Amino acid sequence: MPWWQVIYFLWAIVLQQARAETSPCKFFVEEKDLDKCDFALKSLKKAMQWDEEVYGREYDLDIFMIVAVDDFNMGAMENKGLNIFNSSCVLAKPETSTDFSFQRIEAIVAHEYFHNWSGNRVTCRDWFQLSLKEGFTVYRDSEFSADMGSRAVKRIDDVNFLRTVQFAEDAGPMAHSVRPESYMEISNFYTVTIYEKGAEVVRMIANLLGPELFRTGTDLYFDKFDGMAVTTEDFVATMEEVSGFDLTQFRRWYSQAGTPVLNVKGSFNAEENTYTLSVEQSCPASPGQAEKQNFHIPFAVSLLDSQGRLLELQLDGDNVPAENSKVLTVSEQQQEFVFTGVTEQPVPSLLRSFSAPVKMHFDYSRDELMFLIAHDSDGFVRWEAAQQLSLQIINELLQQVQSNEPKQLDQRLIQAMEACS
Ligand SMILES: [Zn+2]
Repeated sequence: MPWWQVIYFLWAIVLQQARAETSPCKFFVEEKDLDKCDFALKSLKKAMQWDEEVYGREYDLDIFMIVAVDDFNMGAMENKGLNIFNSSCVLAKPETSTDFSFQRIEAIVAHEYFHNWSGNRVTCRDWFQLSLKEGFTVYRDSEFSADMGSRAVKRIDDVNFLRTVQFAEDAGPMAHSVRPESYMEISNFYTVTIYEKGAEVVRMIANLLGPELFRTGTDLYFDKFDGMAVTTEDFVATMEEVSGFDLTQFRRWYSQAGTPVLNVKGSFNAEENTYTLSVEQSCPASPGQAEKQNFHIPFAVSLLDSQGRLLELQLDGDNVPAENSKVLTVSEQQQEFVFTGVTEQPVPSLLRSFSAPVKMHFDYSRDELMFLIAHDSDGFVRWEAAQQLSLQIINELLQQVQSNEPKQLDQRLIQAMEACS
């Protein structure tokens, strides 16, 4: 190595050490893990920048510390200014870690950091309000991950987890509301309902208000309750205050357990040029809650024409300008939504971006599923259509095997997959 390269090399080491000593972000790890902190440090800096830009929240101390140990028995803990992590949630290097590990670290480092505002500066009055900080912060870290990577992939990951784990919890003996009425041991309430369903409830509020009003609402929430211990009711009331919306019925998402079901039917009227979506909601009984009151469900829909283009939607009797995607307010047990000016049989794109944590049923034909996979602009709906089509065809093959019929794969599945590539 020539002398000038040696000097450059030494200078780089001195500079790196000086930066580490003066950096406001400090990591404490065991010596063996020193080479696995870079990614978490970068994630922390991105999270700090994102919270400043998206929520206007700046960090309030001179230093921010993370300590990672192998034997911390939870994922991570947001102690003010000194987050404690199980090392699996913070340490990684490309030689030994998967993509999933890197994504998980980015999300958890951000989640704990975001708690500095949603959890520490504004905290919970009592344990019944646990979702106030966890639901909100999971929503915040989910949006952060969506902004750092692919929004559609992140949404699909979240929905998959919610359906697999939270829907199962909501359908079983452990079903409980996002804001529980009672508990025997609070450790048992660190659940997917408090965290993930709680995040879905905040997401619905954010979508109902839209980005600008929601930001006005979170600004007011953080300012008004800074240094205080508050409730989910304070959060919802603040969102009502800034928007003028009445969220009375919406509050049932906090008090009623169980996953609501939407049964949807569509009918096209060629003479009147209308397309009608009939929506029926229900929610199964859960422990202590035999009867459920109707939920306020934001139901995002679009209609596709035969070319796969989104139609301009105009609801009968509605004076607002036509849009190519609409969020229908489902608030009664049975409702009909009539779209006017529809001149051909459309294919409905329903529950776009999974606009509410519900089970939605619509009797799509296989051709319609194929059409959505090939044409819809909503990543979640395309993925959902691909899931349904694959499942139907796998079940058909299984039946053929069981009844000793010749096996015939419906070629439309292959065509649909080719249309995606
Ligand atoms: Zn948390």
